[in-house]
Amino acid sequence: MSISADNSSERPRFGIEKPRHADNPSQLPFWAVHVVCLAAIWTGITWQSVAIAVAFYGLRIFGIGAGYHRYFSHKTFKTSRWFQFVLAFLAMTTAQKGVLWWAEKHRRHHKYSDQAEDIHSPLQKGFWEAHVGWIFRREYQISDYQLVADLAKYPELVWLDRNPMVPPIALGVAAYLIGGWPGLVVGFFWSTVAVWHATFMINSLAHVHGKRRFVTGDDSRNNWFLAVLTMGEGWHNNHHAYQKSCRQGFRWWEWDPNYYAIKLLSFVGVVWDVHEPPKALLAGDHVPGAAIIARTAALVAQSFQTDKLIAQAQAFVPEAQHALAEWSRAAAQGPHLAADAARELAAKLAPSLEDVRQRAARLVAQTPSMDEIVRQAHVLLTEALSAHLLAALPARAGKPAGA
Ligand SMILES: [Zn+2]
Ligand SMILES: [Zn+2]
Repeated sequence: MSISADNSSERPRFGIEKPRHADNPSQLPFWAVHVVCLAAIWTGITWQSVAIAVAFYGLRIFGIGAGYHRYFSHKTFKTSRWFQFVLAFLAMTTAQKGVLWWAEKHRRHHKYSDQAEDIHSPLQKGFWEAHVGWIFRREYQISDYQLVADLAKYPELVWLDRNPMVPPIALGVAAYLIGGWPGLVVGFFWSTVAVWHATFMINSLAHVHGKRRFVTGDDSRNNWFLAVLTMGEGWHNNHHAYQKSCRQGFRWWEWDPNYYAIKLLSFVGVVWDVHEPPKALLAGDHVPGAAIIARTAALVAQSFQTDKLIAQAQAFVPEAQHALAEWSRAAAQGPHLAADAARELAAKLAPSLEDVRQRAARLVAQTPSMDEIVRQAHVLLTEALSAHLLAALPARAGKPAGA
């Protein structure tokens, strides 16, 4: 199933229920869990509690990576209905809201990756909003079941999604029964906080730090440190390049334990149809599609900060007596002539093709499509400048040329 193709013909409609809160929900429970971790001062840290924490961390990172991400969000392998439930329950013990909520939000991330509509793009919204701030936005509290119709048809998943506290409380009780108070505080709460931030770092850092191997139309990166923390989810540029692949570490040395575990499960028949990346992609022969090229060009154009170019343009305009005189005359004669004149002036103010090429070489992975990306980015920049010049025109048009 192609995530982006699923509902591309219709505007995503948000939610099947009305938001219950008029304001953004409280962040208090989230921070309270962090504070509870300090209770280890009184409960003490036992070897048993540390072992529980390590085991719960590994199991739940697997739940997030293999379950929420590779299965529910992307359907990169198949499994039975009972193991699907096990995966959902395990992932939900992380207290990252419900399975349908998570998959729906993640599919939206890929659909709009690093564009204005991306719900957690560090490029668009900054580190903190991408890391955790977005989770507390009122508009993101509900799930649009249309985007996850393939999951919402299972009543047991819908039930879990509507009762998100059942799995984490069950695991907390288990931690207490196994390890007493240190088992609960260190074993459960410490590992919960660690799993939270490891997961969130994929949203906040794997679109900022690391290497780009593929042109993906967004700023996704491969980051080995995040891959270690998340058992393979850090190969995020690989993943954005081919979301259908269960394997995310494309090279033998790209550590991907979530994939190894899924492979093991496939050997014993618990899961099957485990998708691999196509050979052409691995060989580096992949040519990005038109939509990816257009999105990449937009990112390159955006990196120039049109605001700065406009400021330069405004400083430039009073000096460009001739151009301004022409422009004002054209405006007086009609909007079409003004548009032509603005385009001409914008072409003078826009960075050169060579400047755009140098910027693209820094921002974009090696690709046979580089010329086309540079050309489109240059057109976008010129158009943006032209639009801003036109917007400034009414104030200037009335003045005598050169004033
Ligand atoms: Zn994904
Ligand atoms: Zn991403």
